[in-house]
Amino acid sequence: MKLLEERIQKEGRVLPGDILKIDSFLNHQIDVVLMDQLAEEFYHRFACERVDKVLTLEASGIASATLTALKFKVPMVFAKKSKTSNIDDDLYSAQAYSYTHARTNTIVVSKAFLKAGERILIVDDFLANGQASLALASLVEQAGATVAGIGILVEKAHQAGRGLLEEKGYRVESLARVASMDPETGITFVED
Ligand code: 5GP
Repeated sequence: MKLLEERIQKEGRVLPGDILKIDSFLNHQIDVVLMDQLAEEFYHRFACERVDKVLTLEASGIASATLTALKFKVPMVFAKKSKTSNIDDDLYSAQAYSYTHARTNTIVVSKAFLKAGERILIVDDFLANGQASLALASLVEQAGATVAGIGILVEKAHQAGRGLLEEKGYRVESLARVASMDPETGITFVED
């Protein structure tokens, strides 16, 4: 999506460790008008799917997941990063290695908010090696629900995430696909 690519070109900064920093409109300050346009695009791309809920991971997925859920007029649920390793009986849990923090988080969601038979759209801000999306999909499947699709704002297409998700049969829709990024030479995108 040109709109998002242009914004990334203009305001994104490439950090060591293959991290793209876009704090001015996504990860710290949020441009809600842009987020609304991106949510509208997810709505169009997944319009042929039945979506009962939108699921994301706290904290950075919440803004885009909320606006996307508003388009579908369904609830938004966010998985929490558990502070303890004691897993409650009322929670589904999965392990997610965090790309940006280089540690494994246990992520949890209450059994009250994911039910068998529901179709769940997963939304997240970034796709790198796919660990966050795979952990969210695991929560969905533990509940006996189905992944309706995975919507990503920024995919780093030079990393392994998409391949792993598609191998599992999930449909992945990304609004910007970074082909390469380098602190010196800048960012290029996958051509449509
Ligand atoms: P994955 O689990 O696919 O390896 O990484 C996705 C998660 O890590 C996202 O939820 C996002 O929060 C974080 N992440 C991965 N790469 C980047 C990046 O380049 N920039 C930022 N800001 N977050 C990233």
